[in-house]
Amino acid sequence: MSDKKAIELINVCRVFESASGNVNAVDNVSLEIRDGEFFSLLGPSGSGKTTSLRMVAGFDRPTSGQILLYGKDVSNLPPYERDVNTVFQDYALFPHMTVGENVAYGLMIKKISKPDREKSAEEMLDLVQLPGFSGRKPSQLSGGQRQRVALARALINHPKVLLLDEPLGALDLKLRQQMQVELKSIQKRVGITFIFVTHDQEEALTMSDRIAVFNQGRIEQVGTPAEIYEHPATPFVANFVGTSNLISGEVAKRITGSEARFSVRPEKIHLSKTDEKFDADMFSVGGKVRDVVYLGLYTRYLVELDGGGDLVVVEQNLKTTSMDVMQAKDQKVSLFWKKEHIRYVGG
Ligand code: ADP
Ligand code: MG
Repeated sequence: MSDKKAIELINVCRVFESASGNVNAVDNVSLEIRDGEFFSLLGPSGSGKTTSLRMVAGFDRPTSGQILLYGKDVSNLPPYERDVNTVFQDYALFPHMTVGENVAYGLMIKKISKPDREKSAEEMLDLVQLPGFSGRKPSQLSGGQRQRVALARALINHPKVLLLDEPLGALDLKLRQQMQVELKSIQKRVGITFIFVTHDQEEALTMSDRIAVFNQGRIEQVGTPAEIYEHPATPFVANFVGTSNLISGEVAKRITGSEARFSVRPEKIHLSKTDEKFDADMFSVGGKVRDVVYLGLYTRYLVELDGGGDLVVVEQNLKTTSMDVMQAKDQKVSLFWKKEHIRYVGG
């Protein structure tokens, strides 16, 4: 990765007009993505991720604002005059062509000779770990294999930027997790800037160098996975990325001495069935276990706090068995966590 800017969005807006009123699909978004970065647009459905990506690709134009690609204003250029390529969720392979022809398609358009195309296609199929598949038809592939072919096809022209819109959305969980790791390693190897759209926070945290969190057409926060997770800038981010506990008002005041709203991650909280002594650098609060979910590796507790509110606590099952944890239901407990683990999130 370099410090060179690959993509800049400057005050980009996209308004869709309709009979029932205008939709601000993308609402004054500014963003810088660096050369070679794996950058994710993360947010719930309808938050403006696809519209943003389509404007970078050139399939859609901003209502106002600018899009720069390596310093050049491409806001009004058609897709084929931008050095970007897109991989969609539905792969969109040509069913009548072989895998090899699909992959080589971009080179055929450029009138590269057949032997050269075939050689490049083979290299790309190696890269996505489908060596020897060039003679097959897309219908003879699994979902995960089709996704790899789509990736190889998009990479064969060596675009400067690859745009991926929920490319793993159609895969089952196990394959999806495997492809997350592979996609990231392919990106590292080819060194191309990836802009990756997903609504899955875990996926974004796993794969990205940096993430922009979208909400209702706006960016709530841009940061590394650790920054987003550990220091959510807004209540929305705290809630959307990971499970978070938000406490405010009177309950907050009883814990921290201030009514300011804070978040604390479930895995930072310790749960004790005895009245343990804790240190001065910790916050603590008493409560009663309302719900217990045994999840094998760990257990999730929902604790109703004395005086109102509740907190989710996650503990690893280092010594406990499923029997032990089930007995925790309805018990009185004390919760404590290090003061440094709370985040004031405003709102
Ligand atoms: P996401 O990809 O985050 O799910 P989109 O960018 O697809 O979100 O959509 C953002 C908002 O813009 C949504 O409210 C959606 O309904 C609206 N929208 C997207 N495309 C169009 C369109 N072509 N015409 C009208 N509204 C649209
Ligand atoms: Mg979308």
